[in-house]
Amino acid sequence: MNTQSSFKRCLRLLSILALTLPASAAFPQELPLLIAAARVFDGYAIRNDAAVLITDGKIARIDSREAFKEVDVDTHDLGDATLLPGFIELHAHLTYQHVPADTVLRHGITTVRDVGGPLHQPYGGDGNLRLLTSGPILTAPAGYPIPSLGETDIALPVANEQQAREAVRKLVAGGAAVIKVALEPGGEAGAPWSGGHAHSHAHQHGHDVAPAPASWPLLPVNVVKAIVDEAHLLGRKVSAHLAEPKGAQLALDAGIDEWAHTPCEALPDAQLQRAVAQQVRIVSTIDTLSKCPGVIGNIQRLAALNADFLYGAEIAHPDIPWGIDGQELLYLQHLAGMAPLEVIRTATSKAGQHLNIPLLGTLLPGAPADLIAVKGDPTQKLKLLEYPDLVMSGGKLVINHFVAR
Ligand SMILES: [Zn+2]
Repeated sequence: MNTQSSFKRCLRLLSILALTLPASAAFPQELPLLIAAARVFDGYAIRNDAAVLITDGKIARIDSREAFKEVDVDTHDLGDATLLPGFIELHAHLTYQHVPADTVLRHGITTVRDVGGPLHQPYGGDGNLRLLTSGPILTAPAGYPIPSLGETDIALPVANEQQAREAVRKLVAGGAAVIKVALEPGGEAGAPWSGGHAHSHAHQHGHDVAPAPASWPLLPVNVVKAIVDEAHLLGRKVSAHLAEPKGAQLALDAGIDEWAHTPCEALPDAQLQRAVAQQVRIVSTIDTLSKCPGVIGNIQRLAALNADFLYGAEIAHPDIPWGIDGQELLYLQHLAGMAPLEVIRTATSKAGQHLNIPLLGTLLPGAPADLIAVKGDPTQKLKLLEYPDLVMSGGKLVINHFVAR
């Protein structure tokens, strides 16, 4: 190569680095890396025959394969494959249930939001799983999940508005990315937290599945409102565990931002309409709640109302894979009526925006180089995503099943 062209390459590299590096950062240890594939999903749309340039753990540039012809980099062409942002799981209990983070990362989830469990500042995203937490779930004294799981670091009871506000401030100071609240009277048939006993018992007696009487105490609406108000003052959203009409009513009246589940019991149309009117986001968790009698109907009626769904499978429940849940993606496609590309957006760019980290879940310049690749075209077969062939976190390779070309 002649001196002039290598000088130009050097300049181009320096300008890329200037965009991505803080002034004080050391020169990157690894060469810039170019990954090309037949399809690159940038978080919003598919680009054919495209490539992403990665420097210092971030996406520096995304463009057609052609456009990089003159860039002097380490190139990996994945061929007939699809490159996508790493997936974001919005409902997990990874730490509480000791699910190995590296297993989840290897299976395509590069960011997890734990909503119930030990509180941490956000960490990872550097070759390790990026983990955001809510910390313990705010609840009424002796309220759910205390009856099932005890007074451990998964629950934080609050008795009045003042305690609620103090708890929210403490959680946010400790790193909470979201505030989680439980609005759960208990007893829904088919719900994992009901333990399945009420279900089988009702069947033995030849009756229809009838919910057990509600017994767990609920927070009063003024306390839930105080939680929402304090969280919003501190720039955090509030996610509610709810499963039936009483909890849903509390959530709607208190202005809760997000439902951590599709409700287990069928909700009245008026509640679903109000949720959509209030722009409530609904984390799907359909797979783990598939034994709930109301879930399918709720999803279909919410979808007809054009509700805003988010992807969450509830990693740490015993029936959910430790990674991308292909079944959850298929439920979103077939029950919520989403096109495959919309399902993938829901688990990537839409989740990043919901987390207030706008570039997370995209492959746009400046985004963390959290990405996955699968052989073939996942818009033709979402199940492929459950078995990624390449995973990268913060520009560091985690797995790579592609043979060098
Ligand atoms: Zn949960």
